[in-house]
Amino acid sequence: MTSAEVKELYGQFVLPTYRQTAVCLVKGKGSRVWDIHGKEYLDFFPGWGVSGLGHCHPKVVSAIKHQAGKILHIPNNFLNLKQAELGRVLVKKAFPGKVFFCSSGAEAVEGAIKCAHKFGAQSGRYEIITMDMSFHGRTIAALTATAQPKVQDGFGPLPEGFRYARFNDLDSVKALVSAKTVAIMLEPVQGEGGIRVAGGEFLKGLRKLADEKNLLLIFDEIQCGMGRTGKLFAYEHWGVIPDIMVLAKSLGAGVPIGAFITGKKCVDVLTPGSHGSTYGGNPLVAAAALAVLKAIDRERLLARTQEMGAYLREKLMQLKASHLLIKEVRGLGLMLGVELSKPGASVFERCLEKGLIINCTQEKVLRIMPAMAVTKRQIDQALRILGEVLTEEEAA
Ligand SMILES: *Cc1c(COP(=O)(O)O)cnc(C)c1O
Repeated sequence: MTSAEVKELYGQFVLPTYRQTAVCLVKGKGSRVWDIHGKEYLDFFPGWGVSGLGHCHPKVVSAIKHQAGKILHIPNNFLNLKQAELGRVLVKKAFPGKVFFCSSGAEAVEGAIKCAHKFGAQSGRYEIITMDMSFHGRTIAALTATAQPKVQDGFGPLPEGFRYARFNDLDSVKALVSAKTVAIMLEPVQGEGGIRVAGGEFLKGLRKLADEKNLLLIFDEIQCGMGRTGKLFAYEHWGVIPDIMVLAKSLGAGVPIGAFITGKKCVDVLTPGSHGSTYGGNPLVAAAALAVLKAIDRERLLARTQEMGAYLREKLMQLKASHLLIKEVRGLGLMLGVELSKPGASVFERCLEKGLIINCTQEKVLRIMPAMAVTKRQIDQALRILGEVLTEEEAA
């Protein structure tokens, strides 16, 4: 088949909810992917944040193969060895508490929202404060938590109980706290919102506020967690520990798994029968996630992410020095944003033609998040392409 034929099938049979390129990807290895015609691309936005280990990490592939030959799925009313092991590893790496497993980011956010509502039920509290430019997923509650009109428009009536503050503005959060407030939820590094990094004072202020008012502080680390910023969890950069942390995306390196970890304050809130997910943490996805966590340790990928993140940022700063089109370079570790002075859709398109995959979000922000094991040579190659494209754009 050709990519045009695949596109034709989409036109006939798949709902057009995504703005799609004309490229059909069929194979991946590390930081490289190939399309259906054999063209090779350097992937600097692997799996939309899912493939943090790179494509087809051998240890993850073999864990999946091994588990698939034993048992794929067991219902959650039976004990699941892999899920129990994964729970232990995650809690040991995060903070004292317990984990609930599900199958996607939005579903994990929903679970965290349910946990917050139940936590506040006795005192009649249910309002959750979230931030402008946030992104928490596409289910009705998660999109209501997402303070962006473009995600919400047309889907009303939206559930009540969400208030929107300004990211990195502690006073704007304080102003919204009322007798109904039960939680504050945010991404320590906003992804879809344009790679905006929370300030340490802001996060520490939120922690203090949550403690004073008995609120749950919920961190959505679906995109910035799992090593992306050079720490396993982004909050470690500031030492501000949440009451609930939400994970998904690169937790499973490509198999659908989401999770939320509840700390001491709300560990007893969800009781038998109060929440569930049929696929949640089944043996297949739990085995994959265990392999991911092991690979991050064994291959020292956090140190590598810090090192490659510093290198990539330095190279981007050099690019900024020679390209007026670049307004700002920001981010943490290998989660970097390049804000342009004009829309970046054509930069994305031209890079793709030249064999480099990046992303453009919020119209003007190029999102660059290569795999943790990316090499300096691959970074050099990617930035050569990006530099060429920016030069062409500036000449146009
Ligand atoms: C991707 C993302 C989600 C939604 O995850 P899905 O698996 O698409 O439901 C939620 N929060 C953040 C921060 C994300 O990046």
